[in-house]
Amino acid sequence: MTTLIKNGTIVTATDMYNADILIRGGMIAEIGKDIAKITEEMIDATDRYVFPGAIDAHTHLGLADQTIPTADDFESGTIAAALGGTTTVIDYAHQAADVSLQDTLAAWMRKAEGKAVIDYALHLSMYDWTDAALDEIGSLINAGVTSFKCSLVNARDANDGMLYRTMRRINEQGGLMCVHAENGQVIGALTRYLLNNRRGEPRFYPLSRPPEIEGEATGRVITFAEMLKAPVYFVCLSSAHALERVKSARDRGSPVYAETCPHYLVLSQECYEDGNGQGAKYVCSPPLRPKWHQEVLWRGLTSNDLQVVASDHAPYNFKNQKDIGQEDFTKIPEGLPTIEHRLPVLYNSGVLKNRISLNRLVDLLATAPAKIFGLFPKKGTIAVGSDADLVVFDPTAEGVLSCELQSSKADYNLYEGQKIRGAVTSVFSRGVPVVKAGKLVGRTGAGEFLKRRTFVAQ
Ligand SMILES: [Zn+2]
Repeated sequence: MTTLIKNGTIVTATDMYNADILIRGGMIAEIGKDIAKITEEMIDATDRYVFPGAIDAHTHLGLADQTIPTADDFESGTIAAALGGTTTVIDYAHQAADVSLQDTLAAWMRKAEGKAVIDYALHLSMYDWTDAALDEIGSLINAGVTSFKCSLVNARDANDGMLYRTMRRINEQGGLMCVHAENGQVIGALTRYLLNNRRGEPRFYPLSRPPEIEGEATGRVITFAEMLKAPVYFVCLSSAHALERVKSARDRGSPVYAETCPHYLVLSQECYEDGNGQGAKYVCSPPLRPKWHQEVLWRGLTSNDLQVVASDHAPYNFKNQKDIGQEDFTKIPEGLPTIEHRLPVLYNSGVLKNRISLNRLVDLLATAPAKIFGLFPKKGTIAVGSDADLVVFDPTAEGVLSCELQSSKADYNLYEGQKIRGAVTSVFSRGVPVVKAGKLVGRTGAGEFLKRRTFVAQ
């Protein structure tokens, strides 16, 4: 199939210019002025931006069949992603206790196959840091799964010795360690203290996970990474405290990378104070922070101390899931519906408020995650030979974010009623239309598994 996107304003991480894009065989075949070829399809992109398809490097679409199921699976989750301008997701395959990494990977492949509307890749989230698990890393890398998440909160028997050893083994085999950095032991102590003192309501939740222990854990991980000269990538960084540790490591030249999420940039701890019992809707880990952290994170995005904005989409319903924890926040499943609104939130709160440029928007949402996670230049940019994963964006459109209008099956919207400018009008995945005139036209199961290359320092 051949398609011509005429007269759009092409935006990459480095350039912005007016040109036509010729798509042939799923790839970008030609970029130039006034391409005069007859194609099967033609899109007029006059006065519209053409972005590379966004890459969401942190999703949880495979948790829909768990004891506490997420609202979205690989089908509804990737549909929501596509409608929001995302053409690749990197989902976390979660290892359960006593399950091998290979079996975890196989289970996640089955969950995604025949369901994903857009392309997908996988990280492996390691629950067991045992020799048996660490011995499997090489085979996972050969299968195209090249990044391994270690949570300092949830992993079994996570202690500093295990962390150091796990990091060394991942690095020796060419894997990239992704870390959820909060001090799990202190969270345990604080949580017990709060519950023992009848402070179990959602408004007390952030007191169980203060930013100081995110900063502490981030610094500790960086210490080990620098000893090992190993690259490390922090997921869902939420606080100034953690960013300060990342920034000083990067200033020393260490290969330390970090992502934040849209909710940490625009929502604050005040959400938990909601007097109408809605605070549980915002329970995620790490928690939302006091408002002043937001400007520090925005500065981190402009200074490149933060390289990626990912969604950490883990959508739980408010009714019968989040609201059961009104008296005990430990009963609230942690996670938010975020996959659909990453581009609109970053465009409105970042670009239109002059905090980041359009080029930086593309870098944070597409180019940097493609480079860090071994997908570039097949994904993450607009160049001849790259996959034709493209988003046509109308900057003049006006809309509103609401549960009623969203595609995610979660029963609430974090940004309910918020007016926004700009809209995704068309999305292509390897040259095939997935979204047309803002409506889904993509096919369930059309998404392909992407084998990723190993990490190369950026
Ligand atoms: Zn997550």
